[in-house]
Amino acid sequence: MSACVFTVDVEDWFHILDVPSTPPLEQWPGLQSDVERNTRRMLDLFREKQVKCTLFFLAWVAERWPHLVREALADGHEVASHGYAHELVYTILVSGSLPTSARRRTSSSKPVAARFSATVVRASA
Ligand SMILES: [Zn+2]
Repeated sequence: MSACVFTVDVEDWFHILDVPSTPPLEQWPGLQSDVERNTRRMLDLFREKQVKCTLFFLAWVAERWPHLVREALADGHEVASHGYAHELVYTILVSGSLPTSARRRTSSSKPVAARFSATVVRASA
């Protein structure tokens, strides 16, 4: 058996960073989502190949599809937070610091992660 380190960002097509055409957060609930189907396909493949990995869930995704988080945990994967809404810190900084409104968004994945006993990892996109 060989060892590998494999991580997955669990996010949707409309969570793309640094692209001006990416829809704003307010529009996300109304968009066609592929994250459930694609994550399920990956989990099936990991199960078939007996691979364990770390899945970094956006809290926005975990709120809407909590069964994906539970399924990943049940399969023995590590689940971690990838922030709430996939924002780049340097795009929300004002004069080099994080405004209170942005601080709320970047820390709001903690309650979601705690609900699933997931590891909260401080990381950028
Ligand atoms: Zn990401």
